[in-house]
Amino acid sequence: MAVNDNSRRTPLIAGNWKMNLDHLQAIAFVQKLAWNLKDAKHDFSSVEVAVFPPFTDLRSVQTLVSADKLPLAYGAQDVSAQDSGAYTGEISGAFLSQLECQYVLIGHSERRTLHGEDDEQVAAKVTAAIKHNLVPIICVGETAADLELHGPSAVPVAQLKTALSGVSNAADIVVAYEPVWAIGSGQAATPEQAEQVAAQLRNVLKETLGEDVAAKTRILYGGSVKGVNIAGFMREPNVDGALVGGASLDIDEFSSIVRFQKHVGL
Ligand code: PEP
Repeated sequence: MAVNDNSRRTPLIAGNWKMNLDHLQAIAFVQKLAWNLKDAKHDFSSVEVAVFPPFTDLRSVQTLVSADKLPLAYGAQDVSAQDSGAYTGEISGAFLSQLECQYVLIGHSERRTLHGEDDEQVAAKVTAAIKHNLVPIICVGETAADLELHGPSAVPVAQLKTALSGVSNAADIVVAYEPVWAIGSGQAATPEQAEQVAAQLRNVLKETLGEDVAAKTRILYGGSVKGVNIAGFMREPNVDGALVGGASLDIDEFSSIVRFQKHVGL
């Protein structure tokens, strides 16, 4: 089995908190997570760690990260395609940038399913994120029905092609492959399934943005990732990290995922 080339792409472990933890809980959680990883002598330059709290937590997380100089990245779970104006309930990328967010999740399957976001809206949000100096983590993935009808790659490949329609080859992006049937189900894809789709997604990056961008862009796997299964994913050559939902709310479990190098045998 091929080994991941960490010298070219720093792995990223990203925790999507979804609608969990208020701003006070977020402060306690981030503090504890940082201590835990520091105690374990985690090397943040060899595996990057990012958390994605709810919007209302971001100012508190920013204040803590900056005051204590924590080596954690953070970002938002969504962004508006608009800059400002009469868009009740929306959050501009400019506001997220002001809060020193580095990343933003775009097109998570829960946004697509529960809020009807289509590929064109995802593309507009990706463009907006880049405009505001945020690195979009573009989420793509097939449902169980898609898998049966079209196989594993067709839908994620089509979603990524549209999402990249306004992206130049100078942009810094991350792609997250998250089979919808694996999210929150306890039924992760196999490492081989994840690799098969990740390789196809890297081909899309190559075709649309060129070899260099394809070689440096991180592709994450997401869907029921835990401490016990991360190692298998990280051995795959096209998987450069994980987008973690449920397990990102458990500090020990999330730390174990972050420290995959201790149990991956790379
Ligand atoms: C997610 O929501 O992005 C996710 C991968 O969730 P979980 O890890 O709980 O499957």
